[in-house]
Amino acid sequence: MKRISLLGSTGSIGESAMDLIGRGGFEVVALTGGRNVARLASQAVALKADMAVTCFTECYQELAARLKGSGVTVAAGADAVAQAAARPADLVVNGIVGAAGLRPSLAAVKAGATLALANKESLVCAGPLLMATAREAGATVLPVDSEHSAVFQALVGEEMSAVERVVITASGGAFRDWPLAALAEATPEQAATHPNWEMGQRITIDSASMFNKALEVIEAHEFFGIAPERIEVLIHPQSAVHALVGFCDGAMMAHLGAPDMRHAIGYALNWPARAPLPVERLDLAALGRLDFAAPDPARYPALGLAYEVMAAGGLMGAVFNAAKEAALDGFIARRIGFNDMARVVEATMGRMASQTSLNNDMMTLDNVLQADQMARELAREAMAKTQEATG
Ligand code: NAD
Ligand code: MG
Repeated sequence: MKRISLLGSTGSIGESAMDLIGRGGFEVVALTGGRNVARLASQAVALKADMAVTCFTECYQELAARLKGSGVTVAAGADAVAQAAARPADLVVNGIVGAAGLRPSLAAVKAGATLALANKESLVCAGPLLMATAREAGATVLPVDSEHSAVFQALVGEEMSAVERVVITASGGAFRDWPLAALAEATPEQAATHPNWEMGQRITIDSASMFNKALEVIEAHEFFGIAPERIEVLIHPQSAVHALVGFCDGAMMAHLGAPDMRHAIGYALNWPARAPLPVERLDLAALGRLDFAAPDPARYPALGLAYEVMAAGGLMGAVFNAAKEAALDGFIARRIGFNDMARVVEATMGRMASQTSLNNDMMTLDNVLQADQMARELAREAMAKTQEATG
C-alpha cells in the first residue's frame, strides 16, 4: 500500500487520478479542493481519506457539515493545503491549477514525499527552488504533464549528455485552423473547446493561445535542465505522439499514446514499475497518418515569450506566469480580447525587466510570491489601458 495525497482532487487531473487510486493499492492521506465541496466530501468518504481540505476558508463550514461523523479531519485555507501536502505520505499528486500550487509542491518535497507534478506552474515560477529543495530533502519529482512524462519515459536508461534535443508536441488548440484575422473576436467559450484533450477550462484556453505550450517549454527546461535552444515545439493535430527525444547519434525516441491523462498519472503512480492502465490503446492503422508542422509565430506569440523568459531567468518565470494568469482572468471576464492576452504579458514582462530588485533578488519563496504580486498588478494596469483604448 502506498500512502498518497491528492491536491486538487476535484479538478480534471484530480478526477483522473481519483479514478486510478480508487482501483486499489493506495491509502489516502489527504485530499484538497476548492469550492466544489460536495464533490470533495464524497471523494473523501469514498476513498476513506484521513483529511479533506478546501483552499477557501469560507467553505469550511459546509465541508465540515458534510463530513460530520465520517471520521475525516477537515481544514480550510491556503496554509491548510500546504500543511496537508506536508503530511507523511509516499506520494503527493499536485493537480492544483496556477501559482497557488507552488507552496504545496515545496511543502511536499520538503517532507520527503515523491511529488507527482501536474502543476507545471510550480516549475515555471520557481523551478530552481523546487528542484534544489527536492534534492536537499532527497525527494523525487516525477512529471505528470503528458509531454514531460513522455520525455521522461524516452530517457529511461539514457545519459542526459547524449540528448541533442527535446521536441514536445501541441495540438494547436481550438483556433488552429481559424483565419488569423478572426482571433481578435474569439470568445472564452470558443477557446475552451479542445480538439483532443478533456481538461480544465484554464488550461484549455491556454492551449488555444499556446500559453500552455509556452509554460511547458519552460517546464521542460527547468525539469530536465535542457538548454532553451534544444527545446522545440511541433504542431501535431492527432495528439498521438506526445514528445520526442533526439540523441547525439541522430536517433529519435518518440512516445505515443491515447490522449488520456490517466496514462501520465498512472506512470507516476506506478513508477519505477509499469502496471496495466485502463486507457485506450492506439490503433495506428485506423489513425492512418501522423502530421507535424512548425507553429506559426504570428498565430502563437506566447511561444516566443517563453524563450525570452528562459533567457532572462531568475524571477521572470514567476512574472510570466502571473501576468498570464491575470490576462487569462481578464479574457474569461471579457475585459480583454484573445490577442490581448499575449500583449498584456509582454508589456508586463517589459516593465518588470527594468526592476533592478527583480534581477538581483534570490529565488526564495517570498521573492517569487512578491514578483507574482507585482506582475499581477502591472498586468491589471496594462489591461485597464487596453480597455480604455478599445473603448
Ligand atoms: P482544474 O481547474 O480542473 O482543477 C484545479 C484543482 O485545483 C481543483 O481541485 C481546484 O479546486 C483546485 N484549486 C483551484 N484553485 C486553487 C487554489 N488557489 N489553491 C488550491 N487549490 C486550488 O485544473 P486541471 O485542468 O486539472 O489542471 C491542474 C494542473 O494540471 C494545472 O497546472 C494544469 O496546467 C496541469 N495539467 C492539466 C492537464 C489536464 O488534462 N487537465 C494536463 C496536463 C497538465
Ligand atoms: Mg501538457
